[in-house]
Amino acid sequence: MTRTAYAVIHLKSIRHNVQQVRLAAPNSKIMAVIKANAYGHGLLRVAQALNDLVDGFAVARVQEGVRLRKAGFQQRIVVLEGFTEREELQDLLHYDLEASLHSPHQLEILTNQIEPKQLDVWVKLDTGMNRLGFKAHEVNHVFEQLTACNGVKKPLNFMTHFANADDKNDPKTVQQIELFNQLTTNYDGEKSMANSAGILAWQDSLTDWVRAGIMLFGISPFADSTGEQLGLRPLMSLHSRLIAVRDVAAGETVGYSGTWTSPNTTKLGVVAIGYGDGYPRYARSGTPVLINGERVPLVGRVSMDMITVDLGVNSTTKAGDNVTLWGEELPVEEIALYSNTIPYTLVCGITPRVEIVELERTHTRS
Ligand SMILES: *Cc1c(COP(=O)(O)O)cnc(C)c1O
Repeated sequence: MTRTAYAVIHLKSIRHNVQQVRLAAPNSKIMAVIKANAYGHGLLRVAQALNDLVDGFAVARVQEGVRLRKAGFQQRIVVLEGFTEREELQDLLHYDLEASLHSPHQLEILTNQIEPKQLDVWVKLDTGMNRLGFKAHEVNHVFEQLTACNGVKKPLNFMTHFANADDKNDPKTVQQIELFNQLTTNYDGEKSMANSAGILAWQDSLTDWVRAGIMLFGISPFADSTGEQLGLRPLMSLHSRLIAVRDVAAGETVGYSGTWTSPNTTKLGVVAIGYGDGYPRYARSGTPVLINGERVPLVGRVSMDMITVDLGVNSTTKAGDNVTLWGEELPVEEIALYSNTIPYTLVCGITPRVEIVELERTHTRS
């Protein structure tokens, strides 16, 4: 069967990207953040490729951690959202997963827990993100409670998350780093602050552990650069085929709502990819698409299964030709800018209809 929409996962590149994390944070352990199906790249596939390369994993949900354990991974695994139900706590304990501890609700469940096992926790401090975590004024009380709680392993570990580390000029990150250091200075446990943007832009945020996500996939956390410009290699490329080439006269409109009018006689290419595959519906006319080594502009609205591109009147491109939507020669960061979003949403948003082609698995688990 010929392939229509497919994503190639260049697994080999992950080794290189991990090396870039090591270079930037030589004295830190690496927690590979592989939540949301490893940012759309496949949880187990990516975990396997990272198996001997990183020091631990982080996921968002308990179920993601359980999946990793059931597949045989033995590294430390931190669940970044922690637990909200007693059953989730039981799963954490049973599968030897570590948890972010961020709320009084969790403390209550832990305190009433009768299991003999102790939970490894990362106390989440809210230093300015205002999403999860304890505020500075709550910290003393929480530490006292946790110290007295038998269900919690000591020493406690600590983490915080940055709100705006991708803006290299925002002093907020410095304030977050200072507050975190101040709140945790008297405690021995392990500490973790930096996400990818922290790793690349904020030296002072490099502590015992860094939490690398997007950069492992070769994608820049910054809006003003691509992964390639930062020395990273993209893991995912997205492809499909041209399924029709048609003549369009000057003045004709193309696609739903006729948002694009052809200024001249031209050839229009129809590509089998759409928002039903995860190609962003908000990609605007002019978004580059790569066909036979050349960039052509997307024109008109993205529909569920197809997009249209202006091939130019002299084009020799024909139905069946390969099309690249993003990848090494067409950075996903660029497509994100044209679509008014961030590249995280594009790679996470690949739908099950897209066939995954795994390339160059260099690491097999023993
Ligand atoms: C997702 C996430 C990360 C990784 O962020 P990147 O920007 O992808 O590196 C780190 N820490 C927490 C708490 C997260 O939720």
